[in-house]
Amino acid sequence: MQPIKWEICAQDGEARCGLLKTRRGVIETPVFMPVGTLGTVKGTRFETLESAELDARIILGNTYHLWLRPGAETIRECGGLHRFIGWERALLTDSGGFQVWSLGALRKISEEGTEFRSHIDGSLRFLSPEVSMQVQAALGSDIVMAFDECAPGKAEHEVAHASMLLTSRWAERSRKSFDALQKEVWSLESGVESQRLKSELHLTPDSRLRTPDSRLQTPDSELSGAQALFGIVQGAAHLDLRRESLSRTVEIGFDGYAIGGLSVGEEKSVMYGVVEEIAPLMPEERPRYLMGVGTPEDLIECVARGVDMFDCVLPTRNGRTGQAFTSRGRLNVKNAQWARDMRPLDENCSCSVCRRHERAYLRHLYITGEMLASILLTHHNLAFFLDTMRRVRQAIRSGDFTRFRREFLEGVNSGIA
Ligand SMILES: [Zn+2]
Repeated sequence: MQPIKWEICAQDGEARCGLLKTRRGVIETPVFMPVGTLGTVKGTRFETLESAELDARIILGNTYHLWLRPGAETIRECGGLHRFIGWERALLTDSGGFQVWSLGALRKISEEGTEFRSHIDGSLRFLSPEVSMQVQAALGSDIVMAFDECAPGKAEHEVAHASMLLTSRWAERSRKSFDALQKEVWSLESGVESQRLKSELHLTPDSRLRTPDSRLQTPDSELSGAQALFGIVQGAAHLDLRRESLSRTVEIGFDGYAIGGLSVGEEKSVMYGVVEEIAPLMPEERPRYLMGVGTPEDLIECVARGVDMFDCVLPTRNGRTGQAFTSRGRLNVKNAQWARDMRPLDENCSCSVCRRHERAYLRHLYITGEMLASILLTHHNLAFFLDTMRRVRQAIRSGDFTRFRREFLEGVNSGIA
């Protein structure tokens, strides 16, 4: 039995519409996963994420941040990340590799792993494939990411090659360590022990939280109940390295495959080029995840190239800095031109913020530093991203994705008025 199951429901060109069954519910793909770095999708309550309006089926947690604070042991003792934060739907955790990479001068990479200074207190820490797998097991996420090394977007061939080979050795170690950890937990599968683990991992619905939603249920018998592990393809902008990385990763064997190391300073055309080359070569029967990407246009363009899963901080982060994503491009709420504008952020958006509030009020909240500005803009942005993906899925199912893509891009490029 497998930890997750993914099946294609419809295909239009390279664009795929599928169902991803996890131990914590069914996820329709292509899917956008809101980022919950520190165990919170900033500016949003979990009830809101679960509401019919947003209906986020899966969110992200950051291994690096949660490992430093409050610490893996604290979260384990509190029953795992789901229990700790009060979220019963699926969670994906990254490996911490990217965060450590982005620390730049504060880190030192060796064959063994990465040594770095904590951005919080400057203490010396060490992250390796084994440590990352242990932390992600303690967090109890439903999808675990292999520990990888990210080369800069513009890395020379030689540098990118060495980095890609290291990632592939780390992927093997991740797989080994992950399997040992799963075995430790799931081989105890008999009666009482299994029940205890299930409740410790919070796999049984918690009546405190909410009534289980039947649409999200996966029959227990279909899945193994263990965590799933995804491998990551690296190789910067070099297509030969990307292809080699993919074949090495597939050879090790994972439940799903991700493209990492994009959207890190390379040209947009380079990113699209890598995705266009690599996504169709990725195993057809496994979900494909493009990490850390991107704008609504990027999502559409990469769905068109065969990607199924996305995550990005843009809707939440930009919401906090006064930027709204709309069907006519980005709107900066602080601009003076909106001071008396009695239109919603997006006239084509039916989210609860657009139904109730106008630009003039949102600008006022932002200018006066009211926290409600961040909350409302974040809500609209998440609604826009998640609704866009709903429309993408619908377009693929009805064989209308090409037209949808053209009209969507025309819209966002037409400019806010
Ligand atoms: Zn809206």
